Amino acid sequence: MNFDFTKTSDACVKCGKCIPSCTIHQINADEVTSPRGFLELVGAYQRGELELDKNAKEIFEKCFLCTTCVSICPTSLPTDIAIENIRHDIAKKFGITWFKRVYFFLLRHKKIMDFSISLGAFFIPLLFKVDKNAQSMKPRFNLPFVGKRVFPRLNKKSFLNSHDEFIQNSSSDDALKVAVFAGCFSNYHYTKTGDSLLKILKALQINVMLPKKQRCCGAPALFTGDFKTVDKLIRTNVDYFETFLDEVDAVIIPEATCAAMIKEDWERFMCEDKEMSVRIKKITGKVFMASEWLYKKTKLLELLNSVNIKAKESITYHDPCHARKVLKVFKEPRALLGANYDIKEMSDPAQCCGFGGVTMQSEKFKFSQKAGGTKVQMIEKTDAKIVSAECGACRMQLTNALDQKSVKVAFKHPLELIAEVINQE
Ligand code: SF4
Ligand code: SF4
Repeated sequence: MNFDFTKTSDACVKCGKCIPSCTIHQINADEVTSPRGFLELVGAYQRGELELDKNAKEIFEKCFLCTTCVSICPTSLPTDIAIENIRHDIAKKFGITWFKRVYFFLLRHKKIMDFSISLGAFFIPLLFKVDKNAQSMKPRFNLPFVGKRVFPRLNKKSFLNSHDEFIQNSSSDDALKVAVFAGCFSNYHYTKTGDSLLKILKALQINVMLPKKQRCCGAPALFTGDFKTVDKLIRTNVDYFETFLDEVDAVIIPEATCAAMIKEDWERFMCEDKEMSVRIKKITGKVFMASEWLYKKTKLLELLNSVNIKAKESITYHDPCHARKVLKVFKEPRALLGANYDIKEMSDPAQCCGFGGVTMQSEKFKFSQKAGGTKVQMIEKTDAKIVSAECGACRMQLTNALDQKSVKVAFKHPLELIAEVINQE
């Protein structure tokens, strides 16, 4: 993927409209770490006026890739894509930190990943206290590098390895059939998300396929600039998707980041390979976020209205950046949840939670913590007992941020909340 930094940089009219809402600028008020500043720097880099040294690396790693600037910019300048590409050039120059290389190796090698996670799950109780309801785990004592941070739980058996490949919920010839792309968070950590989706599909008598050989969508590697891993994961997934695509009505994804990666980034990343672009276009036409597809293509809302249950606990809904700003999915989960839950909106549900990707969660975690703290204040003010978002990354970030601030609000995926209503019927 060859990105024209100068073209994007020169197109910036420096109006500054994007700056007040920029996630990093809000917590690090410096022109250099703002969309306008980033674009100025990438232009200087392409003109040969900026060396990609350690200082430049530090600056470009501070962007959360939240896409808020893109959604606000009058000409939708792709600051996020410029940052991903410059991170790729930085990775070529400095290499990628060892633990990220290990992680991306595991993402490329699913069987080793499956084995490593179940091995980890076996030993984890020695060091971490596991909260089965929250599907998270907290260190029993201050651990080097991570302190008392809350992490997603590791499961002995992944979601995909816990169910059959084909689940028949209807024998009717007209029955819909979907494939589920779980995403790594739902597959390895927050398995209740996938389990809840299966319960909902059963109630709707929709047949299910769980494609067992699906790989990571590639988002963590894209955000880090490891384009070799992205290329490999996209090609492997595309070859595999084509083996079952014609048999299903849709591929549904309960994870905002994976859905945005597949629907928006796969084709863009492969734009120089015309044959791949055509193949990807055919796939993305059938890909949906789970809430969007359930709302638009099934009778789930009718079912939820008919059960006539009003949940006692109020909820607040956080919009994952990749759902609201990239895929424009925000009405659908609210419509479904609103049938049975009292939704108390926070002051800015679309403000980034501060997850930011692998680098932000490791080397730049202090920025992630600051952004998470602002979001927690917003959640707390609503007085809701539950916060929900259709995204495992937001779940990881918010669960930890709530715990660090001792705010007693639980996180539940919208599909978990919907399945709870269906179970009560
Ligand atoms: S992607 Fe987010 S953090 Fe990065 S420049 Fe844009 S608004 Fe700021
Ligand atoms: S809103 Fe767009 S044009 Fe205006 S400063 Fe930001 S990136 Fe540049």
